[in-house]
Amino acid sequence: MQIVRAGTKPSAEGNAAYFTGRVRLDPLIASETTGRVSSAAVTFEPGARTAWHTHPAGQMLIVTQGVGRVQRAGGPVEAIRPGDVVWFAPGEKHWHGAAPATGMTHIAVHEAVDGSAVTWMEPVSEAEYTTAPATEG
Ligand code: MN
Repeated sequence: MQIVRAGTKPSAEGNAAYFTGRVRLDPLIASETTGRVSSAAVTFEPGARTAWHTHPAGQMLIVTQGVGRVQRAGGPVEAIRPGDVVWFAPGEKHWHGAAPATGMTHIAVHEAVDGSAVTWMEPVSEAEYTTAPATEG
């Protein structure tokens, strides 16, 4: 058994090459101790979001705080709230982030394939990001 105590892993700032706006990552599950699965709590300030990207083995998001936005390529922008669980299929191009005026925190869980859990693509443009969500929020 191993207990990783709160406060023993430093927060990290989201890399500006992959995120728009301020994003904080707090590691939860490190792949070096568990195999392929890794997980982090990710906090997006209002207006912050990922770039477009894919995950080779898919990704689950569990919203824990605030109001956010998600979109898969070719689909509508969707509002997400605490308790919502989002699944992106392997290879499905998508982005996730905060609402324009409200921050959002989610727990992200994903598996690495050949050592990589994500393939980053182009940023989400302002026009894409500010499209009104299909769902309330
Ligand atoms: Mn993702």
